[in-house]
This record gives sequence, C-alpha cells and structure tokens, in this order.
Amino acid sequence: MSEDCIFCAIVAGDIPGRIVDENDDAVAFLDANPMSPGHTLVVPKAHRTRLADMSREESRHVFDLVHELAPRVEDAVDADAHTIAVNDGPDAGQEVPHVHVHVIPRFADDDGGPIHRVAGTPPELSDEELDDIAESVSS
Ligand code: 5GP
Ligand code: ZN
Repeated sequence: MSEDCIFCAIVAGDIPGRIVDENDDAVAFLDANPMSPGHTLVVPKAHRTRLADMSREESRHVFDLVHELAPRVEDAVDADAHTIAVNDGPDAGQEVPHVHVHVIPRFADDDGGPIHRVAGTPPELSDEELDDIAESVSS
C-alpha cells in the first residue's frame, strides 16, 4: 500500500469506493467521474504503478476480473458495447499512479470515438520500418 494513493485507500476500505467485485489480487469499483454510466475501474490490490510492475499472477487476476465484469457492466446499464483501455504511464494520460483498467460502456448513439484516435495522427511507416519494429519487440 502506498500512503498517499487514492486507489490503495479504496482497496483498503479507508474511503468509500462503490466496489462492485473482487478476486484474490484485483478489485473493481465505479469511476467517481464516469465517462459514461457504469464506467468501472479494475485495479490490482497491491500498489503497482505501471502494467509491467505487476507480476504475471496479478496481471492474470486483473484481466480475469475485466473479462468477467465487462458483460455484467454492459447488462447493468443496457449498453451496446464497451471500450476497455489502460493509460499506462503519464505520457499516455495516466493521472492516478496505480494501475487501472477502464471499462467504459458505450452506446450506439454516444458521441465518443474509437480507440484508433488516442495516439494522434497515425505515422506513415514503410514495410521495412514495420519489420524493424517487429524485430525489436520480438528480440
Ligand atoms: P487515468 O487518467 O489515471 O487513466 O484515470 C483516472 C481515473 O480515476 C479517472 O477516470 C477518474 O475519474 C478516476 N478517479 C480519480 N479519483 C478517483 C476517486 O477518488 N475515486 C474513484 N472511484 N475514481 C477516481
Ligand atoms: Zn496505490
């Protein structure tokens, strides 16, 4: 637990959090400033800043809970779909430095957009550049 972390405080029950589910290593609660009705956050119980800071076991529990919860959230608010995303690092928009997966219900008539827009203008990459990136990631 990190002393000044708001999500650690919710996990510990020190502040109210509208917790909707949990498993061994993960907790899900409603976002306090939802982007849509039912917007839910799934977090590891332990204080971890970035995805890569979680153990494989913690990661499995977090994403298991996302997998289990997403259809229930969708049903609960009668949504048509959902966007599931992680702002992993401040430069990606992460404001709370405790890993959280956003489960955001989406509606056919909402005025949101697809995840394709989050990184700004798409780069024009040659086949060679794509090959180089694939090589770097896989080695
Ligand atoms: P981020 O930008 O870090 O990916 O998202 C942080 C999310 O946490 C935001 O959607 C914000 O509304 C939510 N949030 C911030 N403070 C609190 C809080 O005290 N309680 C809850 N339930 N959600 C919070
Ligand atoms: Zn924390």
